[in-house]
Amino acid sequence: MAELPEISKLAGQMRDTLCGKTIEAITIVQEKCSNIPPDEFQKRVASARIKDVRNKGKWIITSLDNGENILLSLGMGADILYFDSENNQADKYQVKVVFTDGSGYTSRFWWFGKFLLAADDELETEPNTKDIAMDPFDERFTLDYFVSLLKGKRTQIKAFLMDQKNIGGIGNMYMHDILFKARLHPRKKISDMNGDEIRLLYNSITDILNLSREKGTFAYESDFFGQKGGYTMDYFLVGYKEKQPCPVCGEKIVSIKTGSTTSFICPACQKA
Ligand SMILES: [Zn+2]
Repeated sequence: MAELPEISKLAGQMRDTLCGKTIEAITIVQEKCSNIPPDEFQKRVASARIKDVRNKGKWIITSLDNGENILLSLGMGADILYFDSENNQADKYQVKVVFTDGSGYTSRFWWFGKFLLAADDELETEPNTKDIAMDPFDERFTLDYFVSLLKGKRTQIKAFLMDQKNIGGIGNMYMHDILFKARLHPRKKISDMNGDEIRLLYNSITDILNLSREKGTFAYESDFFGQKGGYTMDYFLVGYKEKQPCPVCGEKIVSIKTGSTTSFICPACQKA
């Protein structure tokens, strides 16, 4: 599943490739992935130019020069693929955007993908994106900021980090190794964490996400040009490595239930 490294890479590629292009047509095959009917969507974006593309947590926001914004969520997985001409477009898609120069992109969602439209003055109240917090790739995401986020909180650390209202962009996939590297049990209460543990966790979040970014992001996700990333399963420390030895102490890695998610941990390095 795409998380912050994959989404920010995709948003960057879309920004570099699409800014300045003018929308000619939008085809929405699967109406339920949008918040307005396809013909209204088409009317509101036709002839508008792409002004900016950026990510907010795991959402990609494309701003147009007519005051409209396309909000894209990959849901449980999706291929968002550029084409230089419609001859080279992907066969299957739920949404297709075509520009006046003949290029465009298709969105194929595996599950729960969203393709929404919101005017500039609706963005602040848009229910899907309004509460998404700053993500760890933001330069304002400093240790001091992280410490202030955790201050006075009593919840379990994994649930806190997964909540997009606290930190944008982190999902279950990178979480296993983030907590392992910080030697924290997923159910550890924030109120029981000391300053060293918080600093270690901050470094772990930025280290793991940055390493994926440096390696070209997760190997099973396609980028805007259909290329896979270089962050293969070999880079995972304990995530999805049940029964394999812990890379630090050799103890067998186990999977445990943590609320609605599964967590892979080393029971020796991450004491409850
Ligand atoms: Zn261990």
